Amino acid sequence: MQHREFKPAVIAPQGLDQLVATLRSRGFRVLGPSVRDGAIVYDDIEGAAELPSGWTDEQDGGSYRLVRRDDDARFGYAVGPHSWKRFLFRPELRLWRARRSESGGLVVEEEPAADQPMAFIGVRSCELHAIEIQDRVFMGGHHVDRDYAAQREGAFLVAVNCTAPGGTCFCTSMGTGPTVDAGAGYDIALTELLVGEHRFLAEAGTERGASVLAEIPGRPATRGDWDAAEAATDAAAALMGRTMDVSDIRDLLARNLEHPRWDDVAARCLSCGNCTQVCPTCFCSSVEEGGDLSGDTATRTRVWDTCFSVEYSYIHGGSIRPSSRARYRQWMTHKLGTWIDQFGTSGCVGCGRCITWCPVGIDITEEVSAIRATEGSGAATA
Ligand code: SF4
Ligand code: SF4
Repeated sequence: MQHREFKPAVIAPQGLDQLVATLRSRGFRVLGPSVRDGAIVYDDIEGAAELPSGWTDEQDGGSYRLVRRDDDARFGYAVGPHSWKRFLFRPELRLWRARRSESGGLVVEEEPAADQPMAFIGVRSCELHAIEIQDRVFMGGHHVDRDYAAQREGAFLVAVNCTAPGGTCFCTSMGTGPTVDAGAGYDIALTELLVGEHRFLAEAGTERGASVLAEIPGRPATRGDWDAAEAATDAAAALMGRTMDVSDIRDLLARNLEHPRWDDVAARCLSCGNCTQVCPTCFCSSVEEGGDLSGDTATRTRVWDTCFSVEYSYIHGGSIRPSSRARYRQWMTHKLGTWIDQFGTSGCVGCGRCITWCPVGIDITEEVSAIRATEGSGAATA
């Protein structure tokens, strides 16, 4: 994980306050994890006191709860229902509004792109990979999404190596964590060390990351700090709640489009779309038109949508995917298979959110292993 160009430092937990203050003084809107409504969510923070100190999350299929830790770890949890996509690819974004002018014509006003840069604190390795995937979706082709690019290009990323994976995490299977890769696009990477003195090993990944770190009191990292960081992330890798065998997965799914397991999962799936809303890589959207009763103004707003809604695939004459079976199959085969054809990588980073936040606990890792185990048998599996 070490980025050789910049000297790593060790900072005290109080240094996080200085980190937030420095970023704010440089004009960033600072966003980080905090506890709200019984979950750890990402929101604006004004100081490090708002971080979820001493909290962790317990996660399983369809289940999430916060519990107290017996220490003051600031990043001692996995991931919550939010992902950073809500700030880069916003759930609701007005595109333009139109109003009737005094002469009776129409004046169309495009919404200006956001101009305040954002700093994200606490970005996990799986989330860095998810951001990289969405970068490809929104900025990698001929048609660059103006609003995504405006938010993304100046974003300052403070990554935090994961030392407390959740019960539904499987990033090791997807090659996306728990340790951030050198050069993975972060400005600063932190590893929280809780054995002995509570401290953070801080590494800069960019010049501006190094310049922010230079403002935080600290000391040079020792061999002992590196060993402690490696031990913490090795322990995290061994604690993954789930695994997924991804060998040959694209072709496995393509060969099994008529597998009876799709009927089995369809009988459980509520088509609520929660899995797509919490997924850090899902990017379906649609537009909504609005207007006032006087007929003088109109708006067009882009909103998150989901491939689990019947309307999403509606074309003249009806929906292409009218059944839950068709919709779940579309979602999973795209995420794990055809995404590779489209974007060159899997669309899944193994964060486990879709498992935790599915109200009936449908588990993508279990669905893959059921299909793999019974391929060609023609038998539905329970
Ligand atoms: S499919 Fe599920 S586990 Fe994979 S990235 Fe999306 S939410 Fe995370
Ligand atoms: S898999 Fe679960 S979260 Fe996704 S649409 Fe079906 S019921 Fe909702």
